[in-house]
Amino acid sequence: MKSHARVVVIGGGVVGCSVLYHLTKAGWKDVVLIERDQLTSGSTWHAAGGFHTLNGDPNVAKLQGYTIGLYDELEKLSGISCSLHRSGGLLLADTVERMEWLKMAHARARYLGLDTELISPREAQELLPLIEAKHFVGAMIDRADGNLDPSGTTHAYAKSARINGAEIYLQTRVTELTRRRDGSWDVITDKGTITAEHVVNCGGLWAREVGRMVGLELPVLAMEHMYLVTDEMKEVVEFNKSHGHELPHAIDFKAEIYLRQERNGLLLGTYEKACVPWQPRETPWSFSMELLSPDLERIAPSLEVGYRHFPAMERAGIKRVVNGPFTFSPDGNPLVGPVQGLPGYWCACAVMAGFSQGGGVGLALSQWMVNGDPGFDVWAMDIARYGEWATRSYTNEKVRENYSRRFSIRFPNEELPAARPQQTTAIYDLLLAQGAVMGDSWGMETPLWFAPSVAEAKDVVSFHRSNDFPHVKAECLGVRNAVGVTEIANFAKYEVTGSGAEALLLRLMCNRMPRIGRLILTPMLNPQGKLIGDFTIAKLSDERFLIWGSSQAQIYHMRWFERWLPADGSVSVRRLGMGLVGLSIAGPRSRELLSRLTDEDVSNTALRFMDHRALDVANLPALVNRVTYTGDLGYEIWVAPEYQRRLYESIQQAGRDLGLVNFGMRALLGLRLEKNFPTWYRELRPIYGPIEAGVERFIDFNKTDFIGRDAALKERDSGGTLRRVTFTVDAGDADVLGDEPIYHEGKVIGWVTSGGYGHYVDRSLAQGYVPRALAADTGARAFEIEILGERRAATIAPQPLFDPDGARMRS
Ligand SMILES: Cc1cc2nc3c(=O)[nH]c(=O)nc-3n(C[C@H](O)[C@H](O)[C@H](O)COP(=O)(O)OP(=O)(O)OC[C@H]3O[C@@H](n4cnc5c(N)ncnc54)[C@H](O)[C@@H]3O)c2cc1C
Repeated sequence: MKSHARVVVIGGGVVGCSVLYHLTKAGWKDVVLIERDQLTSGSTWHAAGGFHTLNGDPNVAKLQGYTIGLYDELEKLSGISCSLHRSGGLLLADTVERMEWLKMAHARARYLGLDTELISPREAQELLPLIEAKHFVGAMIDRADGNLDPSGTTHAYAKSARINGAEIYLQTRVTELTRRRDGSWDVITDKGTITAEHVVNCGGLWAREVGRMVGLELPVLAMEHMYLVTDEMKEVVEFNKSHGHELPHAIDFKAEIYLRQERNGLLLGTYEKACVPWQPRETPWSFSMELLSPDLERIAPSLEVGYRHFPAMERAGIKRVVNGPFTFSPDGNPLVGPVQGLPGYWCACAVMAGFSQGGGVGLALSQWMVNGDPGFDVWAMDIARYGEWATRSYTNEKVRENYSRRFSIRFPNEELPAARPQQTTAIYDLLLAQGAVMGDSWGMETPLWFAPSVAEAKDVVSFHRSNDFPHVKAECLGVRNAVGVTEIANFAKYEVTGSGAEALLLRLMCNRMPRIGRLILTPMLNPQGKLIGDFTIAKLSDERFLIWGSSQAQIYHMRWFERWLPADGSVSVRRLGMGLVGLSIAGPRSRELLSRLTDEDVSNTALRFMDHRALDVANLPALVNRVTYTGDLGYEIWVAPEYQRRLYESIQQAGRDLGLVNFGMRALLGLRLEKNFPTWYRELRPIYGPIEAGVERFIDFNKTDFIGRDAALKERDSGGTLRRVTFTVDAGDADVLGDEPIYHEGKVIGWVTSGGYGHYVDRSLAQGYVPRALAADTGARAFEIEILGERRAATIAPQPLFDPDGARMRS
């Protein structure tokens, strides 16, 4: 065994082997993989081997497309067959809602360049005669679906990596990881120690244990999963004979089953409601290439429906039942990337669909390690999307919920109940008592909207406008016409202090820093000039700054800040979490409201737009930012959590005769659309540049050395490829949700990032990206946006529909 390597990959399942291969492909040859048993001996060997491109996140869908395209290359390089069966697949819809979901998936596939088609039940039956068409209302064909041999594929990755120079040590268990003074890692195994610059946790079923070696409790849990294989079926044999090819795959959402041909019979797997976690606390090291006891009782409800939908199945004998464990994160997407606070420790865990995602995960991680950036948008699988609140029992509840809902529709206005409420603020009960409908924002209960009574405080889930519509409208009008109050405790907040604080922020952020007592807005770029953050920054003193940003990206941003901290200790960055909580008041009467709560001068000359002040508000020490995301006159008031209840009650009391309304996140997001404001994660993501996103005015190009400046200058000179635009949409009773294709002259030319109803301007609105040249086409109805399968006319709004000059914010 070597004593030193640049990278040690821990785990020889499909994911570890893919990471190893991709590292060598990216040019790092001094890389080794350590496997405690044989390759595939975790969850990989007994996988059903299916692959597909379908994923709720388009960026993950793209990576799945990459994975599926990779297999030919692997076979060629390694000379090992992956036993590819590119049979295509059918997704069968049994309800109108499921068909609407398929229409959306199909629309999204159009701009992702995936090959899908919507068909009738009859057409589906022609392709897959085993189904009873009467149970379905329609279907979608996904031509990229197929299946392969899990073992052959894993060995093809491994051999390709070896050909490129990697080494693999089998029958060697990593028992400990210790950090050296120089930041490298001692990887201690039962056969000796290797020192490495980087370690990658690809431990699969043992990912938690490999995390615990460095003090990490990863949000990952294995679930038992069953599939059965039938004896030979004459229907299958006849189909093969008459059609000259295999049966296509099928997903039957109602029965919660997936199904494909296996030899001359079928393979049928279930994601049953009565799902069972496997080894919820610790995975035994003694487990290897074993199967769990089958439990057909548990999957009986799925089989019952499946037998009705596929009658031939009921007559078939069962040859074999496989019950094996594999891992999931709370939202079902992988956990990939560097771990905050542990430089050189990387994860590629919780990959629940190793044969759809393994290649993309390997590509992303290798680019991240070699180039410092994954090269594309991996937010949906970035390990940084979870915080400390994702504990082991939280993970257990969420993984069970996610598994049992694998084939359920998640409606856009649907909040999932498991493991909630987890974090609440001091005004949680006050908001609930006033009809608040709560949503989960990074583990925190956050008001979405307010129903007229507690009894009505419930979303009716739908792809169309729903029961919240008139109430969100009332909230928006209340803000625009008088004043509203909303809780913004969930925003991310950081404190940056020290003699080097300003220099660090000038380097990290695109904008100049504000004067003391002022705020600035600024994007943050990576060295490639792509958007990785969007912040409000206040300067409190020469050595103290407060930063506000997106709640979901707190760990992502901390990881980035820490990467650039100077070694001399002159700066410290601290995440404030719920140590600072906020309320925002907004609307034309918000100044009057604030003036009733403080004896300080809050006139427009004393407390100007973009001012930051420490003020006594409602007898409480507060920090006030004169800014709101509603695009109206407004203030954010930040206090320590123990003051929040009094602050809220005082605002309510003082605002009663001013027409004060409560408003929630949905109203806030609608109000910002009227101002064309972008939002992090939807419009602002690492696939867009700042000129494309239209945030150039927040960049100070006179600064000479902020990260991403050269790339941003190039983009400014070339103009970039895309432009973010806002559309008004001739919508019906459904507004855009995000990820819909945008058409121009009949061709798909862009995609929607977010949208909804602008209640004050009374228009359906959408934001999205189109090619730069087309952004100038402001002709009426020059574009179309596909909503639930229908193309709706859309018109670019060249300037905000509400208060285009920003007079309201500044007055
Ligand atoms: C019944 C079943 C059906 C499935 N069907 C499909 C399917 O159709 N399509 C699909 O894409 N996916 C399917 N999967 C899921 C698929 O198997 C997983 O996505 C995949 O195996 C994950 O691979 P991995 O490399 O992350 O983990 P694993 O396969 O668990 O590999 C981890 C490896 O790390 C090694 N290891 C761990 N700790 C150490 C250590 N300390 N030292 C050294 N080595 C260590 C282990 O021995 C193991 O070999 C199925 C899974 C099951 C159980």
